[in-house]
Amino acid sequence: MRYPKKPMLSKSRFLAGEQCHLRLWYSCFNRDLATPVSPAQQAIFDTGHEVGELATRLYSEGVLIREDHLHHEEAVQTTLKAIQDPNVRSIYEAAFLYDDVRIRVDILERLDNGQWNLIEVKSSTSVKDVHLPDVAIQYYVLQGSGLDINRAFLLLINNQYVYDGNNIDLENLFSSFDVTEQSLSLQNEISLRIAEHKEMLRAPNAPIIQPSRHCNNPYSCDFWDYCTKDMPEHWVLNLYGISQNKLDELTGMNIQNIGEIPDSYHLTELQGRMKRCVINDNEFISRRLDAQLMNVEYPIHFLDFETVNPAIPCYANTRPYQIIPFQWSDHILYKDGTLEHKEYLCDDDKDPREDFARTLLDALKKKGTIFIYTIYEKGIVIRLAEHFPQFRNDLLLIPNRFKDLCAIIRNNFYHPGFHGSFSLKSVLPTLVPDMDYEKLAIQEGNQASFEFLRMIDPSTPLEEKDRIKKELLIYCSYDTLAMVEIRDELIRRF
Ligand code: SF4
Repeated sequence: MRYPKKPMLSKSRFLAGEQCHLRLWYSCFNRDLATPVSPAQQAIFDTGHEVGELATRLYSEGVLIREDHLHHEEAVQTTLKAIQDPNVRSIYEAAFLYDDVRIRVDILERLDNGQWNLIEVKSSTSVKDVHLPDVAIQYYVLQGSGLDINRAFLLLINNQYVYDGNNIDLENLFSSFDVTEQSLSLQNEISLRIAEHKEMLRAPNAPIIQPSRHCNNPYSCDFWDYCTKDMPEHWVLNLYGISQNKLDELTGMNIQNIGEIPDSYHLTELQGRMKRCVINDNEFISRRLDAQLMNVEYPIHFLDFETVNPAIPCYANTRPYQIIPFQWSDHILYKDGTLEHKEYLCDDDKDPREDFARTLLDALKKKGTIFIYTIYEKGIVIRLAEHFPQFRNDLLLIPNRFKDLCAIIRNNFYHPGFHGSFSLKSVLPTLVPDMDYEKLAIQEGNQASFEFLRMIDPSTPLEEKDRIKKELLIYCSYDTLAMVEIRDELIRRF
């Protein structure tokens, strides 16, 4: 099908095209095929905006170009006026158009000699490969627009900065990286790639590209659900830990279904087990599973933490992206079969870590196996021990009692319904169909972090805070109840 209107490229479309031509095609012509942005994704975007807004405060006497992307031509005109006004020292969200590519520059800084610095703000803590074409295409458009550029910088978050609890020190929160040379060296490449993208968009039909690993690298593609809707239930990409080489080989052999992989094709032990379960439509139970689940000391704890790692630190003596635990849930199973539930959730705008550690020690006491799901909790406990000398010895005893239920399942059990994933969200509905995260208002950890930050925000209305608190408590307790039920179900199966 030929589309009548020539699409305009933008920086984000260019980067989409660098990841996958089909992604660029859909971004231009079939935007409605994208999966709607989830609250957790929106929280990531919001963080980016917050970081970008803070960064502008480092560049004074600036003006913000307010016209949105639907009014790009007007935004370009407003930018030109700002450039012509010598009193404007910095321009935020400066708009340009060259070679049919629209860009918005986070910050343009005017120098006394009439040149400009290009500053791209990222909420990352290190320069990544994908940042270089991101800056280089802006450099290309600015140069093409006739702007005299001095240097190009990436302004990133400095994760060594320690917040004093009073004022965010912007000079220390951000680190600047000069990427002028890299941007210059990419200019020819950028020009060629733009031409390539335009040519692809002139074709009568969308390019044929199979979804694969590239769909999540460097960014998760928002057309994933659409592109994979017709893939077989037991798709080779679901094979646990499958390498890109093997995926390419299997694609070359025209094999998409795990069940079609020939016996002669080498797979790891776990991948082979998955394949056999798919072909025979049965589950795998190792003889060792019994001992792994039953060799326990009572009372048995089923423990889960929720954490937050804000880009801009909230609490004194914490760094950007430092992991802060704010909630735990513990289901306690006694030898007589009684199940007790204990929990902690910080619902105040204060550093939750001390209360978290104290209440956790009180709940776990000194006895009993502690089931966790992945070893994430271990790192948190160790960091708490480093931070609170008064709890150190007791906290350091806790990881000795941990048993990782996820690793136990991965090593000893498989069901085709897992579809290659051992996450709690994949394992639970297969083993305990009555329990499903779909029923919950909060369904995953990132969403819990985002909701926690909303709950403790003083500007959130009280009613909303209460609602979030209830949902957080339900979500975390569901995780630990899920572990209780999964262990029970596995015990029933041997
Ligand atoms: S899901 Fe993958 S194949 Fe489909 S458009 Fe996105 S990146 Fe391309």
